Order: sequence, then C-alpha cells, then structure tokens
Amino acid sequence: MPFPIKVCAVCSEEFELKPDKPGFANRCPACSEAETSGPATKGRPGGAEHENAKEANEARRQAMRDLLYRKDS
Ligand SMILES: [Zn+2]
Repeated sequence: MPFPIKVCAVCSEEFELKPDKPGFANRCPACSEAETSGPATKGRPGGAEHENAKEANEARRQAMRDLLYRKDS
C-alpha cells in the first residue's frame, strides 16, 4: 500500500507520509526529528539534568557545612 507523497513545509523535500511518522504531517522525518529532539529533551522530567542539579546542590550544602564546622572548632 503506497503512502501519500507530501512536500515538507521546512525543506521542500518530498517525503512519504507514513501513519507512524512522528512530528508534523507536513514535515519530512528529518525536519520533524530536528524539531522534536530540542524541546523534548529539555522538558523531560526526571532527566539527567535534574539529577545533576540535585547532586550539585547536595555537594554545595556539604561544603558549607564543612566550612561552618571548621570555623567553630
Ligand atoms: Zn524537511
């Protein structure tokens, strides 16, 4: 069964519009990928970025505690 041929709204390339194609229906797979990979990774909850920030926060707190204890003794 042939898929309908569409013209990409971004790069004007012809592409087959497959039912399981991610992204916009008027964009070729390459342009859809470029568009979705940006904000998708940025706003992903529980990502590596969040873990790193938590770890950095903990390390900073530990360093502050060390400083305070050193001052007291
Ligand atoms: Zn395109």
